[in-house]
Amino acid sequence: MAVTAKKYTGETCMICNEKKAEGIHICDQLICDSCQKEMLETDVNDIKYHYYLKKLSKLSIQVKHAMESGHSS
Ligand SMILES: [Zn+2]
Repeated sequence: MAVTAKKYTGETCMICNEKKAEGIHICDQLICDSCQKEMLETDVNDIKYHYYLKKLSKLSIQVKHAMESGHSS
């Protein structure tokens, strides 16, 4: 199975700032599984979405892309 994002353990999620057992690494930033799901499920009109965008800054496009295409190459 080819995934672009690697799994890491025991690092701090850049979104919720909690130590998470696993998640994806994008540009040296960890995003935990629950935050990934939250982001994908959050409507663009939701205030939370803008919170995520702020957190991710210019990483956001890469993050969304990585999450949406992570199951393939
Ligand atoms: Zn998180």
